[in-house]
Amino acid sequence: MTQETTMSTEAVRPRHDEHRITVLGAGTMGAGITSLALVHGVPVTLVDVDEAALDRARARVDHQTRVAHLMGAVPEGVAPGRLSTTTSLSSVSEATIVIEAITERFDLKAALLTDVGSRTKPGTALVTNTSSIPVDDLAAYPPRPEDLVGAHFMNPPYLIRAVEVVRGPRTAPRTLDALYELLDALRRESVVVADAPGFVTSRLLHPMINDAARVVQEGVANVEDVDALMVGCLGHRTGPLRTADMIGLDNLVDSLRVLHERTGDERCRPCDLLLAKVGAGDLGRKSGRGFFTYERTEQLS
Ligand code: NAD
Repeated sequence: MTQETTMSTEAVRPRHDEHRITVLGAGTMGAGITSLALVHGVPVTLVDVDEAALDRARARVDHQTRVAHLMGAVPEGVAPGRLSTTTSLSSVSEATIVIEAITERFDLKAALLTDVGSRTKPGTALVTNTSSIPVDDLAAYPPRPEDLVGAHFMNPPYLIRAVEVVRGPRTAPRTLDALYELLDALRRESVVVADAPGFVTSRLLHPMINDAARVVQEGVANVEDVDALMVGCLGHRTGPLRTADMIGLDNLVDSLRVLHERTGDERCRPCDLLLAKVGAGDLGRKSGRGFFTYERTEQLS
């Protein structure tokens, strides 16, 4: 009797083909993570507070899943997962795993995790895709801090194989195992790091991009030349300013603010050029213009 009660209220670890994930936030990363899951046969409920964001996300997912097929980033013989979109949080109670990918603002994430954590079954992993907020700061909010773990997918998630997994001091081993299982089903490689502001990737990349923008701001070189030198001389794959456009300049500024507040490192204070671009609505690929300009299909990818 007791065992039956336990089984009906605790999350049961799903098999590879039994995942049902809810993704919270239908922006750049929410859409990308959704595309990755769908092409691996995993059904997704994508949630956003903004209906227009859900409309844009459906178009992006449609485009990205086609690109994933063209680029051979899809496993053979796997039927695509089904996508549902909604503004309601009701699906989280049935999800095998919940991935939070909303705006990089501590207050928004804390409020959402408080609500979502009270709706999930105990033992259901709550995964945050934050770029810079320490996982343990967020773990103070859901009722079961041990269910929270970080998975820092990079953009675009359906093409980038490695995922920075952030183990908070209170993350339970079973939560990490659930995340590994999902990443395995999605054919991603995990690199596990300790909890800290910006972890490894944002701590190194975001101040570097801020410096690249500052170099342009100071008139040392133009946008094209900064990227050309970083690609041609230093082997950077896309150049820091094109990478900034891919990330989204609004998200980059939010993330730099978190890093600046939590580390005191002045290199992380967002430079005036970045702030001006965000103020003008030039957010990078997603808005069609940032440091560079983009066609409609590029905005979707
Ligand atoms: P984005 O601005 O493109 O999208 C955020 C979405 O969250 C918006 O559609 C917004 O309406 C939605 N949202 C806000 N509050 C919500 C709530 N309470 N419930 C549901 N939806 C809500 O942001 P993004 O670039 O996709 O970033 C999302 C997260 O992923 C951030 O934490 C960011 O730091 C992280 N991240 C971003 C990148 C990147 O390259 N952009 C890479 C890795 C991690």
